[in-house]
Amino acid sequence: MPSNKSVSDAPIFQFTNCRILRNSQLQREDLWVREGKILNPEKLFFDEKGFADIQLDCKDSIIAPGFIDVQINGGFGVDFSLATDDFKSGINLVSQKILSHGVTSFCPTLVTSPPSVYHKVLPQISIRNGGAHGAGVLGAHLEGPFISREKKGAHPEHCLRTFESGAFQDLLATYGALDCIRIVTLAPEMKRSGEVIEELTKRGICVSLGHSVANLSQAEEAVQHGATFITHLFNAMLPFHHRDPGIVGLLTSDKIPTGRRVFYGMISDGIHTNPAALRIAHRAHPKGMVLVTDAIAGMGLAPGRHTLGQQVIEIDGLNTYIAGTKTLSGSVATMDTCVRHFLEATGCTVEKALEAASLHPAQLLGIEHKKGTLDYDSDADFLMLDDSLHVQATYIAAAASSLQPCLQRVHQCFADKGEHGRDHHTVDQLERWGSCPSWNT
Ligand SMILES: [Zn+2]
Repeated sequence: MPSNKSVSDAPIFQFTNCRILRNSQLQREDLWVREGKILNPEKLFFDEKGFADIQLDCKDSIIAPGFIDVQINGGFGVDFSLATDDFKSGINLVSQKILSHGVTSFCPTLVTSPPSVYHKVLPQISIRNGGAHGAGVLGAHLEGPFISREKKGAHPEHCLRTFESGAFQDLLATYGALDCIRIVTLAPEMKRSGEVIEELTKRGICVSLGHSVANLSQAEEAVQHGATFITHLFNAMLPFHHRDPGIVGLLTSDKIPTGRRVFYGMISDGIHTNPAALRIAHRAHPKGMVLVTDAIAGMGLAPGRHTLGQQVIEIDGLNTYIAGTKTLSGSVATMDTCVRHFLEATGCTVEKALEAASLHPAQLLGIEHKKGTLDYDSDADFLMLDDSLHVQATYIAAAASSLQPCLQRVHQCFADKGEHGRDHHTVDQLERWGSCPSWNT
């Protein structure tokens, strides 16, 4: 049964025996893919008279859009805030490794750094689609340096800056180019932050509020200027107070402009946020929840001591300490772990848990027409999961044409069997399956 060659020579893949996350429901439907895009089967049958070239039996798995991590500082020994000459190989390593945790797109995140670091690192970040090389890079998330001294957390104090003298020009001079920047986290109580937020928003850069002592009216004003995100809600901001709920109050504010939605990031690792806080946020504003890992270079490394930059850390399960102390030094939970913890902690549906790591970050970045959903014509970045949301396989659409025709469309990038006990399949195997009717033959 050939595909319709008059429309495209590309093979058509049909994933059968699965439950697909579509329109916020798990639906028993097949998933059709061609040329790295989700295909509308009705159009294929009735308009093109085409059929599947390759059928893959998913054995009743869940199929969900790939996860999008909008705050990840590194992982697998790589720190995105280190200005190395070989920054690209670090990004490539992380891009490749996070696939096994279901992440198909991410925003490499830099903590507060001196201008020299931004000038060196940012030109080495290229926005690119996912493919055989790994997860897609959506652009950088710069957390700081325009943040509050009082809520700086682990950010180096001597690098913090303000907008007082030149506002947006200060920001430009600090970062250098804006081309690859997707998100900027800043403290809205800073003087002239309103005009900076407007300038960034005008350029399609998402402004996030965080590491801040802003009260609610300052936060609302920032949203009216264009801010749409809150960086790791509850962490590094004023605690909720009933007379002035601070940035947290944005979740139920009645001063959000009509038609706009404020999203908030949460580190759902069971350590950085208490489950009760997760539940409060989720119940107050479920459609704004965006799961982030905020992972540091220790994510993905084995338990024990590691030297990361200037620091020696000790990894013990999901806890990471500065070696020899009980000081927590950052998150090492992977995105799939965060999704499972969120599901368990909130008692929400599987659909809602998956959307918090896929649809919502895509909506935040305004890319939901191609990522974060399994709608027709979306990018074919998707996951196969079991009922407890363990990732069984990650598929990522290939954008480049340098690959063999059969592989050009769908790539299967699996975890290492030894590391996670999951299946390990290579692209070569998929190529062989290309001529086979079923998953297991
Ligand atoms: Zn932070």
